[in-house]
This record gives sequence, C-alpha cells and structure tokens, in this order.
Amino acid sequence: MPELPEVETITKGLNLKFSGKTCTKIVFHRKDLRYPIPQQTIRSCCLETPILSFKRRAKYILMETQKGSIVFHLGMTGSIHQEVSSVPLRPHTHAVFSFYENKQKKVYLHYVDPRRFGLISAIKGAVTGKEKYFQDLGLEPLEHKNLGKKLMQLGAHKKQAIKKFIMDSKIIVGVGNIYASESLYEARVHPETPAGNLKNKHFIAIGLAIQKILRKAIKDGGTTLKDYVNTDGKPGYFKQKLKVYDREQQPCLTCKQKIVRLVQGGRSTFFCPYCQKEKK
Ligand SMILES: [Zn+2]
Repeated sequence: MPELPEVETITKGLNLKFSGKTCTKIVFHRKDLRYPIPQQTIRSCCLETPILSFKRRAKYILMETQKGSIVFHLGMTGSIHQEVSSVPLRPHTHAVFSFYENKQKKVYLHYVDPRRFGLISAIKGAVTGKEKYFQDLGLEPLEHKNLGKKLMQLGAHKKQAIKKFIMDSKIIVGVGNIYASESLYEARVHPETPAGNLKNKHFIAIGLAIQKILRKAIKDGGTTLKDYVNTDGKPGYFKQKLKVYDREQQPCLTCKQKIVRLVQGGRSTFFCPYCQKEKK
C-alpha cells in the first residue's frame, strides 16, 4: 500500500513535471473504482486550463486548476505513471490524462490500480477542507513545528494506547503501522501507555520522532523511484533500516535486550521492553 512518504514523493514529482501544463483530453477505461468516477465534473475542472499545482493531503493527491481540483487516491495498489503514449501499457489502466509537453510532443499520465480501492474524483472551486474526503482528517505530520504540543492537546485524558492514538487518522494522518512502532521506539515510549498518562516531554519526543522517520522515508523513498512519477520502485521503508519493526527476538540496537512483539487492535507492534518502559 502506498504510504504517506511515497504519496509525498509522487506529488512532488507530479509538481515538477506537470505544473503549468494544460490537460487536453481524458480517457476513462472504467466507470468506477472504489466509487463511481464523476467523469463530467472531472473534465469541467481540469480540461483546457493550466494545472496550478499538485498538493498532498493525507494520502490524497490534489491536481489544482482555477476551476477546481482533481482528487486521486491510490488505495491499496494504485500508481500513477508518466508515459509517452496514450495507449494503456499496463493491465488495469483506468484513466489516461493527455498534456502537451511542448507544441509538438504530448505526455500522458496513466492511473493504474489492479485492486480498484483507489479513487479519482473532483471538487469544483476552491478546496475548503470540509469536503467528505478531508473533513475527518487529523494533523498533517510534516506541517506543524510543534507537532508534539498538538498531539498533547489531543491526547490529554485519553485512555487509548499511544500506538493506536498515533495511528488514528482523525488525530494524525500518515502514521502507518511500521512508522508507529519505529516512532515510539525512537521516542522511548511504551506502545501500550494510555495517551493521557504521557507527560509533555513524551509527546514532544513522539512528535519529533514521527517527523524524523517520515522525512527519512521520503528521502529514501525518493531515491528508489526511477522517475518521480513511477511508483514501481520499492517503498522507502523497505530500504530504510528498521530498528524494531519485524525484529521480534532480535537484539535491540541500543541495549541488546530482545525486541518483543505484541498485538494491538489486530496489528503487530514491536518494541524494546527495556528502552520503552511502561509509564503508568
Ligand atoms: Zn533496548
């Protein structure tokens, strides 16, 4: 599944390559993905008007024009590819956007999604954040200088375990299962600690750890992609050296004690019981 760091890398790549260009034609090869594709609205928002920019909100990619925004989500298996032909080259190519590279040459964006949990939609006019896609989304982890302080305000008096708390997209977006374990190890916080029991300094450490780990994944993820738009490269976190995730029974890199696995909300959590002592 594409995670926030990959979606960030793809968005940056699309910005570099396609901002300022004008979409001249869109061909849809399906009527629906996770939801029906509003083809007319999409065409009215993006044809014959220059792309202003690409933005990311959580794992959504927004292609903005003066008329509105096209919303993409890659679901479980989606990807966006830059191609020199409008002919679908990969199975499960569901939409092809045509652009002029220059006066003679065209360039194409292909949206591919084998399992079809992804989404292509459109928002007319300016995005307010109140749209159904965005209204329930929590903090953007990389956009806050004092992320820990924000998390502390949201976590006060909460009994929810801190690992589940930071994986809740209504609280903060983009902290997937791997990043949650790694961030709490980095911050030296036990994953089962109730959020409301943590002190300010722990939230500050968690906020910094989340940002450090996501930024590292973006940096590593960016280097694994052949071109900025192609998502065939392995995600950044496979290249990244994981300190606790999937390292059950292996020695902690700090204290040499064995890493422990536990299950929280049906998901595996990995931590060092010595470095991450429970804080009651
Ligand atoms: Zn340790």
